[in-house]
Amino acid sequence: MDLTPEQLGELQRIIKQRHESLLTEIRGEVARSRDETYGDIAGPVTDTGDEAVADLLSDLDIAEVSRDLQEVRELEAAQTRIAGGTYGDCAECGATIDFERLRAYPVATRCIDCQRVREKTYAHASEAKL
Ligand SMILES: [Zn+2]
Repeated sequence: MDLTPEQLGELQRIIKQRHESLLTEIRGEVARSRDETYGDIAGPVTDTGDEAVADLLSDLDIAEVSRDLQEVRELEAAQTRIAGGTYGDCAECGATIDFERLRAYPVATRCIDCQRVREKTYAHASEAKL
């Protein structure tokens, strides 16, 4: 990882903010969905941890939040990579991912070159899986 501590700190802030705003969004979606569809089947979620909320949503399979959840997991994986010191390394070629790319897309796991190759190879395949 060739990112400076300042760059890494900035990316960590971006990831944390995005993570928090997504969880807020998901909680709102849960509350709304429960009111509309699930009533009191799912039980109260207000006092559960973030992980429990994610699990609950996976069980309920609410289409509107599945994309948000996917991103939450990608952000958490990025935080794990930061903690492990491998954040910013391309998963394909091992090169350091460009800082500007990470700032625009902090969950990136590939450098722009490898990403282009992959998009060409899997042009119509979806990577979005829970
Ligand atoms: Zn690469």
